[in-house]
Amino acid sequence: TERIIQKSEKLALLGQMAAGIAHEIRNPLTSIKGFIQLFQASYPKEKYTEIVLSELERINSIVGEFLVLAKPTAAVFAEQDVKILIKDVVTLINNQSMLNNVQIFVEFDSHLPMVSCEEKQMKQVLLNLLQNSIEAMPKGGNIDVKVMKKEEGKISIQIIDQGIGIPKERIPTLGEPFYTTKEKGTGLGLMTCYKIIEGHNGELKIDSIVNVGTTIEIILPTITQPYLQGK
Ligand code: ADP
Ligand code: MG
Repeated sequence: TERIIQKSEKLALLGQMAAGIAHEIRNPLTSIKGFIQLFQASYPKEKYTEIVLSELERINSIVGEFLVLAKPTAAVFAEQDVKILIKDVVTLINNQSMLNNVQIFVEFDSHLPMVSCEEKQMKQVLLNLLQNSIEAMPKGGNIDVKVMKKEEGKISIQIIDQGIGIPKERIPTLGEPFYTTKEKGTGLGLMTCYKIIEGHNGELKIDSIVNVGTTIEIILPTITQPYLQGK
């Protein structure tokens, strides 16, 4: 438990830090990016601007992840249909998945209960997870998204890929800031997912077999329907 406490304290600290600096960085970043883009438009053959732009994009995605962490104070929870959230996110990521030869299949239990969640945050979680799955399949493949009723009062969302997988001993390190195996990774995606799911009183579980694939399961509490009582 000592390790778990340290981990959540670290996350809380990061959240506070994020709130303080992310906004401050984003403004000058946007302005620098604008000027470099103008410069590139006038000198399209200039290679250095491309590098500068791609590095700016990298900073931008790091700052973006921190902003997600900084948001929870302003979070708006509302009754949501998981089916609709997932369809929206799959539509959003469709281009990227097609470019990578990845097909996404979605399967829902009938009569799924509603959940109470922060729409933007939950979409961010699904987007981060689908993105990781796509990136885990450099030669393409399938992703199955399954939404099921779990035991009373719970719903399960599984994202199953056929990617490179994660070695067993690495699974506990996932969710720690800046752990990445990708050249252009930020190592902040899963940390953000853990943080958001924790804020929804849910659970995030990772199961993986190297060279077979990874299954991520999100378990969320559902909204219990009040009984309609005749008076
Ligand atoms: P990033 O994607 O920027 O590297 P994440 O926090 O999203 O950061 O993921 C951290 C690391 O976890 C990844 O670099 C990768 O090694 C591993 N990982 C996450 N999801 C998967 C997956 N579906 N399949 C294989 N490895 C994964
Ligand atoms: Mg990621």
